[in-house]
Amino acid sequence: MHLALFGPPGAGKGTQAFFLRQSFGIPQFSTGDILRSAIESGEELGMQAKRNIEHGELVPDGIIIELVNRFLTQSKICSGGYILDGFPRTVEQAVALKKMGIRLDHVIEFSVPEKEIIRRISGRRIHPPSGRIYHIQFKPPKVEGKDDITGELLIQRQDDREEIVKKRLTIYREKTSSLIQYYCTWSESDNKNAPKYHNISGVGPVESIRQDLYKRLNGCSED
Ligand code: AMP
Repeated sequence: MHLALFGPPGAGKGTQAFFLRQSFGIPQFSTGDILRSAIESGEELGMQAKRNIEHGELVPDGIIIELVNRFLTQSKICSGGYILDGFPRTVEQAVALKKMGIRLDHVIEFSVPEKEIIRRISGRRIHPPSGRIYHIQFKPPKVEGKDDITGELLIQRQDDREEIVKKRLTIYREKTSSLIQYYCTWSESDNKNAPKYHNISGVGPVESIRQDLYKRLNGCSED
């Protein structure tokens, strides 16, 4: 199962990717997570990206493509399937992915109205080592501010602040329309290698979104 998930920040990609990882036993590859760990470890590439991320801007395509290329080569991620989370985000990245020969079976976009996104993101808290995601209102941890499993502190990402989220949403809107067009056109073509494009509503209970997602990936077992 070779998947790419995209959607605005806070659309629930991370939550659904978690289910997919469990069901299909495939790794998740998140460019956002890889960039954050490159920043933490002080890598030059991470330093270049830091400013863009903190300002809610996209990291330049050249950096992202180099990062993805390096990661895919090192981890041999291509062998048994994967979930690409947050990549590609521009047509240039999608074209590069195709040139690298990285297979995709399904491209899934999660749609959520912007008002709802802002509400979701302002309450989001993360446990960085595991990637577990909480929400102070909708999915609170058992003990305030702490991870349920390890008891370690939860954080709010810098770029989850409201003014930065609004900027991220504007950029998402600008870049995504052409990316969607790119995948729709390819999906509707006669090309047998074309990934199927799906738009899924990311509004409502997590479980019904998950069911909708699995229905779209139909023919693929949940277990
Ligand atoms: P995410 O965790 O996916 O929301 O990504 C956090 C931030 O990392 C984004 O707001 C961008 O600044 C940067 N980023 C992640 N993936 C990409 C990408 N594919 N292209 C450009 N920038 C990215």
